[in-house]
Amino acid sequence: MTTITFLGTGAAMPARSYNACFALDMPGLRLLVDAGGGNEILRYLDRADIATESIHDFFITHTHTDHILGAVWVVRKIIANAMSGSYAGQLNVYGNADVIAAVDTICRLTFLKSYYDYGRKTINYVETGEGVTDIGGYSFDFFDVGSENVKQTGFRVGSLAFLGDEGLTERNLDKVSGSAWLICGAFCRYADREIFKPYEKHHNTVLDIARLATDGNIGNLILFHSEDRDIDNRQKLYADEGAGIFGGRIIVPRDLETINI
Ligand SMILES: [Zn+2]
Repeated sequence: MTTITFLGTGAAMPARSYNACFALDMPGLRLLVDAGGGNEILRYLDRADIATESIHDFFITHTHTDHILGAVWVVRKIIANAMSGSYAGQLNVYGNADVIAAVDTICRLTFLKSYYDYGRKTINYVETGEGVTDIGGYSFDFFDVGSENVKQTGFRVGSLAFLGDEGLTERNLDKVSGSAWLICGAFCRYADREIFKPYEKHHNTVLDIARLATDGNIGNLILFHSEDRDIDNRQKLYADEGAGIFGGRIIVPRDLETINI
């Protein structure tokens, strides 16, 4: 069974949620995917009952603030765990070349030298180019998601496809078509485009994604990286916009919600 624990579900400037990130659990593997924009990630991991000692594989999609600055805190916490003897082994950090350069640079400039130096023994950077990387015995097929403003990496593993905070677009549809489950960004409803202006921010809407998901024969959608103005009704509002266009399930998780696929 694959379990996805959404630590955060919000876009870059959330009001009522944490930035989009999650833990992916498959038998024998726990992969943290992104970490939001600050040290609040440590509190969210705690609330989700995910000990940092249990994280040995960590994938970061791209270098934007709301995905990478939390990663620096995860790295710092794990180095502290390792220094105190409570963390065994190494932390594999996966990402494209820009991500790895950014994490390493921020750590070097912002950590105590003793932490950074210890981290060189604890952190193992793995650059994910286009193509398959084995993580915990699973074949992760990494690809560029076709973002218009940053180099961003998504993946397919088994029946699951993931586009980072990018929506489903004509540029990435062929990379994820036929997947049983797709996790992608959906900034807001098409009905609310004048309020949230998704297209100005290189994001798109539930309606856009529902149409393309039908074209791409995608089974079910998990949408996140969304506005959170009406977070109590977001699931129903988004599902209603996609209904009638897309035949599969549309799930819009809340922070700390767990989904089994
Ligand atoms: Zn983002």
